[in-house]
Amino acid sequence: MARRKKIYEGKAKILYEGPEPGTIVQYFKDDATAFNAEKKDVIDGKGVLNNRLSEFFMTGLNQIGVPTHFIRRLNMREQLVRSCEIIPLEVIVRNYAAGSLSKRLGIAEGTQLPRPIVEYCYKDDSLGDPLVTEEHIAAFGWASQQDMDDVLSLALRVNDFMSGVMLAVGIRLVDFKIEIGRVYEGDFQRLIVADEISPDSCRLWDIETGQKLDKDVFRRDLGSLTDAYSEVARRLGVLPKSNVSKPTLIN
Ligand code: C5P
Repeated sequence: MARRKKIYEGKAKILYEGPEPGTIVQYFKDDATAFNAEKKDVIDGKGVLNNRLSEFFMTGLNQIGVPTHFIRRLNMREQLVRSCEIIPLEVIVRNYAAGSLSKRLGIAEGTQLPRPIVEYCYKDDSLGDPLVTEEHIAAFGWASQQDMDDVLSLALRVNDFMSGVMLAVGIRLVDFKIEIGRVYEGDFQRLIVADEISPDSCRLWDIETGQKLDKDVFRRDLGSLTDAYSEVARRLGVLPKSNVSKPTLIN
């Protein structure tokens, strides 16, 4: 049996060379890390849930014309994605104050923001992914002005889509992080949503109870992470054995 070529191993995923040029196999691990890997654990089943949930969100985005890297799910833990050049930014969209925004600005967690706020962090683990401004992004050449216009538009469209999908199942989308990649098509370059969209990269609160259904459960020791992620998957009709009616966006 031929060994697959590993391209990259991160905290929660491994990337292997895909079967065709321009493709990558994205493997979801069970590893959970927080606070720049200061807190670590292995959570049975997390990779399977995130593979399914990221498939669900990316498929929905593709269907409404927001381009993503997602091609198809291969098995319980792997999906085939388009290879792209990742812009070295974490693009964060916030609808309610929480986490680092609350800490930084002294705004109580759960406060509704006057409008969605988009923030950029420079992707560098050794620096702890610091917050940067568009000035830094332009000056250091991480992305062009045209790229940043497109990044903002993609981020807000993802926010609209995700907020609606979550609202329909009684969940508030507090904030989330996405990563954006460049693909080249002949003389043109296009931006696509890459990496993953899952409860690892979103804050999701039950609308009625405020219960956290995301990675804060792990970060703040609030109980079982798989129970929280399974609840999100169950409500969305993503778990195979779910008896909950599915949202219309996916069959
Ligand atoms: O920690 P902070 O409040 O800045 O996180 C904002 C959002 O971005 C949260 O949903 C968090 O899960 C996500 N995030 C992430 N990866 C990071 C930093 C933040 O997915 N490295």
